[in-house]
Amino acid sequence: MEVSRKQNASSPCAACKLLRRRCSQDCIFAPYFPAEEPHKFAGVHKVFGASNVSKMLQELPEEHRGDAVSSMVYEANARMRDPVYGCVGAISYLQQQIDGLRQQLAQTQAEMLHLKVRQAASSHATSPSNSGSQLSYALLSHSKPSNFEMDMVVDQANFTQSMWSST
Ligand SMILES: [Zn+2]
Repeated sequence: MEVSRKQNASSPCAACKLLRRRCSQDCIFAPYFPAEEPHKFAGVHKVFGASNVSKMLQELPEEHRGDAVSSMVYEANARMRDPVYGCVGAISYLQQQIDGLRQQLAQTQAEMLHLKVRQAASSHATSPSNSGSQLSYALLSHSKPSNFEMDMVVDQANFTQSMWSST
């Protein structure tokens, strides 16, 4: 305890250092803004203002202050990166992604259901040729990548060679 007091006396917390004031033993910032992380308080001070941060911390029970500080630091960083939307920008971007992925999932599930129904229908069919699935298999095997791209590469190599030899 005495050691930490001595350290406090010799080096003020990041907040008091920035505000150029004496860091008292009951400094409200000291537990959350250590001197080794000056950027944390700098951002929060710039965005919220030191007196507002102090007020917010005073209104909270001590066990919630740490969480409040991490939230304020996060929000301040987001606000500096995106002055218009702040962390709302990140939230709405992620929400858009969720919406898009949900749509994809619903579409894929609908396709799966459709395929299952078709499979069930074709396996229940009494005719010997389940032409439906055979057709789709044929289509699939035709959509395999051909060596067309390979030809392109070879052609390009020949072209380059002929360019060199012609000059
Ligand atoms: Zn302090």
